[in-house]
Amino acid sequence: MNSLGHSPNAKLDKTILEKYLRLPQPEDKLQVTYIWIDGTGEHVRAKDRTLNFLPKSPKDYPIWNYDGSSTYQAEGSNSDTFLNPVAVYKDPFRPGANNTLVLCDTYKYNKEPTATNHRRTCLEAVERAVDTKPWFGIEQEYTLLDSDLRPFGWPANGFPGPQGPYYCGVGADKVYAREIVEAHYRACLYAGIDIAGTNAEVMPAQWEFQVGPGEGIKCADDLWVARYILHRIAEEYGVIVTFDPKPMTGNWNGSGAHCNFSTLAMREENGIIEIEKAIDKLSKQHLRHIQAYDPKGGKDNVRRLTGHHETSSIHDFSAGVANRGASIRIPRGVAEDKKGYLEDRRPSSNCDPYSVCNALIRTCILDE
Ligand SMILES: [Mg+2]
Repeated sequence: MNSLGHSPNAKLDKTILEKYLRLPQPEDKLQVTYIWIDGTGEHVRAKDRTLNFLPKSPKDYPIWNYDGSSTYQAEGSNSDTFLNPVAVYKDPFRPGANNTLVLCDTYKYNKEPTATNHRRTCLEAVERAVDTKPWFGIEQEYTLLDSDLRPFGWPANGFPGPQGPYYCGVGADKVYAREIVEAHYRACLYAGIDIAGTNAEVMPAQWEFQVGPGEGIKCADDLWVARYILHRIAEEYGVIVTFDPKPMTGNWNGSGAHCNFSTLAMREENGIIEIEKAIDKLSKQHLRHIQAYDPKGGKDNVRRLTGHHETSSIHDFSAGVANRGASIRIPRGVAEDKKGYLEDRRPSSNCDPYSVCNALIRTCILDE
């Protein structure tokens, strides 16, 4: 069986759509995709609508609603769930007009945030910490799967050679589906996401992109929309993106979402003192952070944070210069410059970045 032989999306002729996307779009009509996080806390949903005006900011977009009983977010008898637009991006799938992607947070029928709306709490922390100018940069690792749910490009009955040649690899025997990574990179730039780079990762079919650094909530917003764009592009190829933190058991690396964090004081002369203070606070709140760093309150990270494969043990807090086996890494350059940022290596690849940023601000800045 050829790779992707079972994938209906891979079989469709992608060039036909071009004919329709070239049709002129009425100047007074805008196509808008509303994107939100569903009740799993890790998957995104989206639906589209036409607007006959050009909104100037997120709050000019109409509040919309959806059937929350079909997204694990409401009972069927009271299922209207509200979408509040919070961030706007250019739409790379319908380029050349004012079409947009609109990231939304979600509210129940009674206007209370849904259980997976972690943005609201994060924004409150960001606003209280605004004077310290917190910056975040997140390294999003992920794995591409074939439609049989095996990593893309892996032999159907067996395994690729052991890890070693694949990280930042080049060549057809080292990396698979680079075109998805390329398409995603450019589409994110077009959309207005602060995508900082990409690389092939340690396990074959595993990749990474980085978002940030951005101040406040921008990095987390960008990451959610970057995930949406990645799912959409892979969908066109018939390939599946998984953010599962340990898609393959055994001697294969898992996936994380290392979070690089700093405040203005950390970035200034002798900021290393502030970095060490933050690490001391983090050492006393290990459990809070583990609970915030994957969508299942720490259960997903049990599979990944084993103390092997460049991870720390989920049970212990540790920190060290240039140590990829620690909870917190102080990069070598930061130790030498005595200022900069710290890297929290614990967040799982399927984390909600709002929960991660929220926990870091509350522990390190707000002293909660
Ligand atoms: Mg990495």
